[in-house]
Amino acid sequence: MRAIFLDRDGVINVYRSDHVRSLAEFSYYDSTPGAFAILGALRLPIVVVTNQSGIARGIVPETELAAMHERLQADARAWGGSIAAVEICPHDPAARCACRKPATLLFERAASALAIDLAGSFLVGDAPSDIEAGRRLGMVTLRVQTGRGAEPGPEPDHSVADLLAAARAIRAMLAKSGANDRGP
Ligand SMILES: [Mg+2]
Ligand SMILES: [Zn+2]
Repeated sequence: MRAIFLDRDGVINVYRSDHVRSLAEFSYYDSTPGAFAILGALRLPIVVVTNQSGIARGIVPETELAAMHERLQADARAWGGSIAAVEICPHDPAARCACRKPATLLFERAASALAIDLAGSFLVGDAPSDIEAGRRLGMVTLRVQTGRGAEPGPEPDHSVADLLAAARAIRAMLAKSGANDRGP
């Protein structure tokens, strides 16, 4: 089964270069609710994969991060697009961990927990590291222009305005390929 992987900051919620440090700073783009409604109707697992080095840096308290993700899970459910898993890398880039995107461990962890075929799954991100991770795993990559979407980086399969446009593009691709859960 394929899945839909979403980056968080700059895709679902408004990007801040100084880290989203608290629940009060966690605010959605206007088109996010509609995007989740479309994605939920596709009946594929939705997985959020996010680098949160602010944890290791001591900028983002773990309790605040947990509160953001509780809010996100509840809102996504209410919008009609429940999130199957939120995978987090809390490490500093200098730690050279195996999970910070563009490394692929977070995707592989979700894939084994949820029986997801990564090749042919969808990845929506704003940062070059998102697209790079998706490419390494043979995913269909969509890059939004929100957040860090204007930074130079590897070529995505699709460039879209925002998460809502990404959701519509994924829906169109799945309709073209026939059954939603058929392989790529
Ligand atoms: Mg991002
Ligand atoms: Zn990590």
